[in-house]
Amino acid sequence: EAAKLDAFDNHERVWHGRDEERGLNAIVAIHNTVLGPGLGGTRVWPHETFEAALTDVLRLSRGMTFKSAVAGMDFGGGKALIIANSKTDKTPALLEAYAEMLIALNGQYFTGEDVGFTVADADFLRERTPNVTGTTVGGSGNPSPVTAHGVFLGIKAALKHRGVATLDGVHVAVQGLGSVGWTLCEKLHAEGARLSVTDIDAARMEQAKDAFGATPVALDDILKVNADVFAPCALGGVLSAETIPLLGAKIVAGAANNPLVRHEDARLLMERGVLYAPDYVINAGGLLNVAAELAPGGYDREATMAKVAKIPETLADIFARAEAQKRPTNDVAAEIAFERINAARQR
Ligand code: NAD
Repeated sequence: EAAKLDAFDNHERVWHGRDEERGLNAIVAIHNTVLGPGLGGTRVWPHETFEAALTDVLRLSRGMTFKSAVAGMDFGGGKALIIANSKTDKTPALLEAYAEMLIALNGQYFTGEDVGFTVADADFLRERTPNVTGTTVGGSGNPSPVTAHGVFLGIKAALKHRGVATLDGVHVAVQGLGSVGWTLCEKLHAEGARLSVTDIDAARMEQAKDAFGATPVALDDILKVNADVFAPCALGGVLSAETIPLLGAKIVAGAANNPLVRHEDARLLMERGVLYAPDYVINAGGLLNVAAELAPGGYDREATMAKVAKIPETLADIFARAEAQKRPTNDVAAEIAFERINAARQR
């Protein structure tokens, strides 16, 4: 599997856009366009080094290739990263410069929301370039609630695989109470789940305590919570050879892209008896939603939600195959993606 994954390590194109005057330092990465044009959100994050930003965007764009392929969509993998603090640096001038970069790419990359990049930002760009999804005008709006819905259904699929038929009394540890994490908490709470939560924003934790009776947990302790499910909904890189032994839950199912430091870490989870819902399978709802805008005839919410409703079926199939073949779930998911991309390549 590692060799097959390595064959998918090469990106087709990577662009670096710099405009010092307007504060833009951005990378756009297109991983693979065999199935269609590169589609994936723009992340705004103040990485300390260019290398860290590059690693992040390369991993994210690669994940988008797999996400589209498993979800049966005709898009390739792409992602952008603006190295900036979204709260302090994201000025109209910076976004203007970024819009110019997208225009120069001339339709090779379609973008949308991600961490630090909001619907308002997408709307701002959409006035300047057509290659933006997740907009309010002529678009499908914020994809996060749809992502959260898919993750919610995916958590239920994982519990079902483990013989648990209801969320009532199930304990979920949620890391990150942002756009997706918060909506996920709403859904879990409405069906009787018990929540432990954390966020670098302490006020958010207090709000979750009030809204859902959630138990606030220190940042470093969320992994250790003796919950039924750990739902990573912040950034990636939280599960590694160092942290997996600390994990309290027996299911990992959340929205975060790349929660595993290495693909191989899923084997460590398997060996500990932890069921892992592969990130790009469970969190595909947002991509399904924004991609629908680009379909002939435009956005159709009902058809999109029908596709999102298939996420738990796909996961159930992956869980069953992984168990029968004694393989990590992300190996099985990657295989589904390879098969689709390779079949398209041979056509
Ligand atoms: P967001 O920026 O709205 O929320 C992220 C939250 O995580 C914030 O509240 C932030 O304070 C918190 N956070 C950051 N670092 C943390 C840490 N170390 N510990 C605890 N909390 C921390 O982002 P979002 O849109 O909710 O996305 C969350 C994750 O889901 C990201 O990894 C994103 O790539 C992934 N994702 C999002 C979508 C979508 O539709 N928004 C789709 C697919 C995947």
